[in-house]
Amino acid sequence: MNIMYKSTRGNGGTVTASEAILKGLAEDGGLFVPEKMPKLPVELAELSNFDYRETAYIVMKEFLTDFSKEELKNCINNAYDSKFDTENICELKEADGAYFLELFHGATIAFKDMALSILPHLLTTSARKNNVKNKIIILTATSGDTGKAALAGFADVEGTGIIVFYPKHGVSKIQEKQMITQKGDNTYVVGIEGNFDDAQTGVKNMFGNKELAKAMAEKGYQFSSANSINIGRLVPQVVYYVYTYGQLLKKGAIKAGEPVNYIVPTGNFGNILAAYYAKMMGIPVGKLICASNENKVLFDFFESGTYDRNREFILTSSPSMDILISSNLERLIYSIAGEDGKVTSEFMKELAENGAYTISEDMKSKLDCFCGGYCDESKTADTIKRIYENDGYVIDTHTAVAAGVYADYRKETGDNTVSVIASTASPYKFTRSVMNAISNEYDKAEDFELVDMLCEISKVKVPNAIEEIRTAPVLHDRVCDKSKMQETVEDILGL
Ligand SMILES: *Cc1c(COP(=O)(O)O)cnc(C)c1O
Repeated sequence: MNIMYKSTRGNGGTVTASEAILKGLAEDGGLFVPEKMPKLPVELAELSNFDYRETAYIVMKEFLTDFSKEELKNCINNAYDSKFDTENICELKEADGAYFLELFHGATIAFKDMALSILPHLLTTSARKNNVKNKIIILTATSGDTGKAALAGFADVEGTGIIVFYPKHGVSKIQEKQMITQKGDNTYVVGIEGNFDDAQTGVKNMFGNKELAKAMAEKGYQFSSANSINIGRLVPQVVYYVYTYGQLLKKGAIKAGEPVNYIVPTGNFGNILAAYYAKMMGIPVGKLICASNENKVLFDFFESGTYDRNREFILTSSPSMDILISSNLERLIYSIAGEDGKVTSEFMKELAENGAYTISEDMKSKLDCFCGGYCDESKTADTIKRIYENDGYVIDTHTAVAAGVYADYRKETGDNTVSVIASTASPYKFTRSVMNAISNEYDKAEDFELVDMLCEISKVKVPNAIEEIRTAPVLHDRVCDKSKMQETVEDILGL
């Protein structure tokens, strides 16, 4: 079956998968969604037979139907290779009465690598298929992890350039160092005086700016997006939820057909939406538990049906989740609004104008499989300490938010369904917060001393991504005000 893509704000026009990947965002400002959700083409019981790359092919071919078998296999093989430090690409570890799905074995030790190692290949293949001659400029806003993963993915990829904006005072030291030491002639990294939402809004505005697009085209450039609004990022994320189900079958932890809960530490709602897509494809899911940090706009939404971003933006120890506008929620809204582009655009207009909207009771009733929870800073730290002390397993702050939410959920509901916690970053990426959570005696140590101490207590080898930046020179030092993002892009591209 041929799957076409349409905008969450439109009512009609469709594009192919490769066109949707190239465009990133639809022209009306909406997000691309498949016209029809594909179903898993194999029996559940068979899933235990496939390795990661095979599972990736089985899942992705159902979404990217205009890619040939050879094209898609090439993309998959180029992405999921020795850049990952485990042959399995991701790992399942048991601790605290749950499975931790470690999605951080890629080049930049955050789960963003799962999608961003393949996106450049999907994008350049899409450009070729559509006879695009322009150089593709990836414009990205990052809360810390996307930026580095996208830079690593696109560095020196022919026919592309990448410009990353990050909140200058809103990422961890190690996250910043990872980005500003990025090599590659086609890479640009800019810190902004503003928060992640400012960066994301600035990027969205540039995507929607027709004059800018015209000036770009005259110079032989066009924008695309590596943010999770791009369907080319979402689709590869569906893979690991399907793969995990197969691995649980293989371990004998579940029988085919038995439901699994997924707990996902959430910011932009991309990762958990991928789990929802896996469910719609046919993976038996009990609850999708959406875990927030103190920026608990999603928790409030699932409780009340009102999405309200009018609140203080809090900087937490899980910065990749410090987000008040969760872009991918739009895809869920569209789905529960009965795929009505008009209704969805009304909500998004309200969000843009008033910062809030309330869904109908009917829409709310379709959210049964979701459950929201949140974890404040002290509970996040306690969770890291508790799991380290009980199981000797060290998790990062984002994963701890999810683990904290899950522990509460289980206590409150008594739900003993096999549960998988998405472990989205290596603790080495947030060493200071992690070590401080474990003991206050680490307070005075330097960042890289802490790295060595973490290695000692966790017995996990220091990842390459960290070894590399110990001594790497800073190659990017641009900073601009949040109101000057477009000028900065024009300057970089010589428009
Ligand atoms: C990006 C990120 C998240 C949030 O994922 P979303 O898809 O934006 O919800 C959580 N944890 C880490 C470590 C991340 O990098």
